[in-house]
Amino acid sequence: MFAPRLGDVYGESLFATVGAKTRRFLARSIRRKTLALRQSPAIVTFTFDDVAASACTVGGPILEQHGIRGTFYVAGAGYGAPSPGGLLASADQLRAIWANGHEIGCHTYSHRAVPQISLRELGAELDRNERELKKINSKVVVRNFAYPYGDMSIGTKYYVENRFDSCRSVHAGINSGIADLGALRACPLEDASIDRSGIAALIARTFQVRGWLIFYSHDVAERPSRHGVTPALLEWAVRTARNSGCVVTTVAGALELIGGGPAAGSRQAHLSRWQTDLQDQGATLGS
Ligand SMILES: [Zn+2]
Repeated sequence: MFAPRLGDVYGESLFATVGAKTRRFLARSIRRKTLALRQSPAIVTFTFDDVAASACTVGGPILEQHGIRGTFYVAGAGYGAPSPGGLLASADQLRAIWANGHEIGCHTYSHRAVPQISLRELGAELDRNERELKKINSKVVVRNFAYPYGDMSIGTKYYVENRFDSCRSVHAGINSGIADLGALRACPLEDASIDRSGIAALIARTFQVRGWLIFYSHDVAERPSRHGVTPALLEWAVRTARNSGCVVTTVAGALELIGGGPAAGSRQAHLSRWQTDLQDQGATLGS
């Protein structure tokens, strides 16, 4: 049974936790694939990991009501399976999300902590997940990755940042100045971790520094898991971001906007996506 652990250090021994933190720190300290954010507008992105069915059926529509789209990082082995955040999305639910303009990202096939497998296994995981995500629709383009558990090593970071346009970590913070595309910072959007004032402060700071704020969450429910968010808090965060002066778009949309976009083959598809986002928001470049 596929049952991904949600969260960063959940269930690890103290020794393993310290080791993983050191490994992640070392990986983040080597920045090979970077992107300057100074010339771009402030951006907010909403992402969902794993992906719980409720992220599609409740979370997606909340974003859509405000004319924005999000990025859903899927581990393809989990379609319809139980998880700590409730049932994971079915292929049909993900197909609906994609058809509504949201981005599908990669989260490995079977939700593996990438430093714990060989690079050969990692490559097979990514290949298999890509095949699985293509079953949603053959036109699905998967260009962005999120590390399961936020776990990485120098070698695996090198591998995935070469393969994807960006890789999102769970290292808290706003991306500003020079962003590391191999370990983008992100902030949890979960009721157990942050309240409205915390969200407002992050968004205001993002606008101030012309940064890129990436939220991540899991299930979206009235009684969410430890790593989930209530519809009310998500809606509030989306509305606040929408009214902040920041552009709100997907990871792929943000990369296009900043100028660190994907390879030429998929560039136009992403371009049209974020242009739609911008038109929906009535935003203008450079604002
Ligand atoms: Zn995950």
